Amino acid sequence: MKPPQFEYDDPSSIEETLTLLTQYGEDAKILAGGQSLVPLLNFRLARPDRLIDINNVRELDYLRVEDGMLRIGALTRHSALERSSELGERVPLLRDAVRLVGHVQIRNRGTVGGSVAHADPAAELPVALTALSARFHARSSRGSRLLRADELFVTHLTTALEPDELLTEIEVPLPAPGTRHGFVEFSRRHGDFALGGAAVLLESGPDGSCRHAAIALLAAASTPLRASGAEQFLVGQRFNERVAAEAAERAVGDINPTGDIHGSSNYRRGLVKAMVRRALVQADSGAKEAA
Ligand code: FAD
Repeated sequence: MKPPQFEYDDPSSIEETLTLLTQYGEDAKILAGGQSLVPLLNFRLARPDRLIDINNVRELDYLRVEDGMLRIGALTRHSALERSSELGERVPLLRDAVRLVGHVQIRNRGTVGGSVAHADPAAELPVALTALSARFHARSSRGSRLLRADELFVTHLTTALEPDELLTEIEVPLPAPGTRHGFVEFSRRHGDFALGGAAVLLESGPDGSCRHAAIALLAAASTPLRASGAEQFLVGQRFNERVAAEAAERAVGDINPTGDIHGSSNYRRGLVKAMVRRALVQADSGAKEAA
């Protein structure tokens, strides 16, 4: 398979990229790791006139903690998240999620910004970032803006980014010390996109009851989805199997996943429910191991 013909630019700064996006935005596509875009080009599902390759924009490649925030440049590779010991200590949910992305070759090339901008509701990073209440920095020659996950992810493979906008940074508030996490998914074969999954964060108060809960669902809707009813239910509860099962039931109460050859809507709802329950149990058992 070969891609359709395209013009090619390889800017080396954000400013240069924004100038090109202003000039060609509607007819151009940004090329980051290429792990989603190149297959789309080869299948002729995308036919941009021009590719703007941002791999030389080194100022977009960083991972740092400052002012209670993890800051991830859009060009940071999945493998950089995997390798970062600071990330493993401060935001282990993200490390566990990224380890489930495809295969090592995909993670060596794929970027955090590409995964976010591609907006696949079955992708691990958008779901983990949604659970973490991450915010997304977008820039264009017109200015910059900061979006929440529910503002950025519009529907399947669609974000609120305008054609002339570049995703530059993802900022993740550091979870409070002692926050436990779980990330669970189910896929048919190792490395396949998951059919359902869940990311969970649990923070307990001094009496052991839940003070804050975050649950994000994978492949449950056309975007990553927070299960706010289940989160509210968990607050004030002491964790046990019955509470986990009830929260999982509430998490899928309103979802209507799209059925396909891999599973009906009903099957997928049941799968996501099981994944939420398991992610909650995983988060709780992490707390017991740490105790
Ligand atoms: P690209 O492919 O370069 O770009 C993707 C899209 O994002 C394009 O539309 C591009 O224009 C846009 N874009 C990229 N960067 C920016 C930016 N900074 N600002 C604005 N727009 C931008 N992913 C998973 O999550 N889980 C999996 O299990 C999984 N398995 C895979 C298995 C295979 C065999 C393959 C080939 C891919 C798989 N992927 C999986 C996809 C992979 O994770 C991609 O790396 C990721 O989805 C896109 O990142 P990228 O850097 O390669 O982006």
